[in-house]
Amino acid sequence: MMRNDKTNPTTTDAGIPVASDDNSLTIGPDGPILLHDHYLIEQMANFNRERIPERQPHAKGSGAFGYFQVTEDVSKYTKAALFQPGVKTDVVMRFSTVAGERGSPDTWRDPRGFAIKFYTSEGNYDMVGNNTPMFFIRDPMKFQHFIRSQKRRADNNLRDHDMQWDFWTLSPESAHQVTWLMGDRGIPKSWRKMNGYSSHTYLWVNAKGEKFWVKYHFKSDLGVECLTQQDGDALAGIDGDYHTRDLFDAIKQGNFPSWTLFMQIMPFAEAESYRYNPFDLTKVWPHADYPLIKVGKLVLDRNPADNHAEIEQAAFEPNNLVPGIGLSPDKMLIGRIFAYADAHRARLGVNYKQIPVNAPHSPVNSYSKDGAMRINKVSDPVYAPNSKGGPKADGERYPTDSAWSASGEMVRASYTLRKDDDDYGQANALINKVMDQAARDRLVSNVAGHLLAGVSEPVLSRAFEYWRHIDAVIGQRIEEKVKAGQAGK
Ligand code: NDP
Repeated sequence: MMRNDKTNPTTTDAGIPVASDDNSLTIGPDGPILLHDHYLIEQMANFNRERIPERQPHAKGSGAFGYFQVTEDVSKYTKAALFQPGVKTDVVMRFSTVAGERGSPDTWRDPRGFAIKFYTSEGNYDMVGNNTPMFFIRDPMKFQHFIRSQKRRADNNLRDHDMQWDFWTLSPESAHQVTWLMGDRGIPKSWRKMNGYSSHTYLWVNAKGEKFWVKYHFKSDLGVECLTQQDGDALAGIDGDYHTRDLFDAIKQGNFPSWTLFMQIMPFAEAESYRYNPFDLTKVWPHADYPLIKVGKLVLDRNPADNHAEIEQAAFEPNNLVPGIGLSPDKMLIGRIFAYADAHRARLGVNYKQIPVNAPHSPVNSYSKDGAMRINKVSDPVYAPNSKGGPKADGERYPTDSAWSASGEMVRASYTLRKDDDDYGQANALINKVMDQAARDRLVSNVAGHLLAGVSEPVLSRAFEYWRHIDAVIGQRIEEKVKAGQAGK
């Protein structure tokens, strides 16, 4: 029988060599186990604590390491160090589904997370994007409710299409993202063959202090490929980890996935007069208005060695912004600035940025101190300002320039409507300008199948109305198909 190598003897976590991997310490071969067996106890105690709370949402996912390299010159738009000509920056990425738990199938219909941490020379920059350029809602007040409607019921602990459509049909701003989700791209063939989008608008600032509103588009160099509902359903049973396996195997075989980064760039002043609110996360910017500008290439070329340490504990947070990049007035983005870092504190502990995968590759000179699981040593002085040689903020070199102005009464209200602000127009454009007839047929079939799986009145009638608002013909076809399905035709 093949045994482990004795030149590398097993030890406890304290490095103490142990006598056996097989037998616990007992009084005689048949007697009771002794509490003296601290190695056995350490193994059992560690095992009991292996799982950490899973992410809520985006629990199921995996990732890899690689780099981003700038191939063009976009320095007239941003001074961010990572986007200067030729600069190459290490990255870690994580892909995920949204609603499923850690063991759920990769091929459920769902948006996919597309999270990148860039280890830049001026600190970590995180882009916590999705494979969709828009989102279901535009105010973070609704996010928790939206996710609860996608997760499980209180009584039977089952997912429930009725509550999903109840939420969506009472939230018409979801129409664009729901149309996208029910279309072909709702189940990608692999993470390697899908695009990633910032979805949010961000601010870029150049060295002269000039500002631009921007959206990121990472286009897969392998092109976009998707699974049909039937293929996705079959794979969910045959290989629930289909996408996880695909990514790991491709990188292991040297087939490194890559994406080309393009930006949409809007001059700062144009946002005010644009025909709809450009910060509304439920909408995209048409390519005709803001064409894609090439920036560089993202490549994944190294698998994790320890998925838990390097991917499960990876903490992406859109508040990680570096000089030259700022926020926009997108309310969802501003909500996420709090939510992500708070989730990491809850899941990983206050010192989660000291876990190697989350630690910047550039120097840390912060005044943070103590807390559970602190590893980095703190030295005096522990306060600022001080006259003892501690770090000092440099407002001249790093000014607060990624900013915009705002004024008004405190209110609870949705964005001020502009001429072309509506909930259905871009969903309609997706159906009629982007999809072909075969894609529209699959859309009707996907929606009808979803509605037939547990949606009841009054939600069902509201769903027909919701689709008629998006497109009268598609709405009619969905209603007819559902009614035919109910009649067993
Ligand atoms: P364009 O014709 O210039 O762009 C349409 C884009 O749709 C394509 O470039 C492609 O973007 C994407 N696309 C292609 N097939 C599908 C599909 N089956 N499902 C979802 N997206 C698909 O038109 P506009 O820019 O005016 O946008 C029209 C509609 O296209 C929008 O309302 C939106 O629904 C959708 N769209 C727009 C994007 C944008 O940023 N403007 C991005 C993605 C979708 P890509 O190459 O990025 O995959």
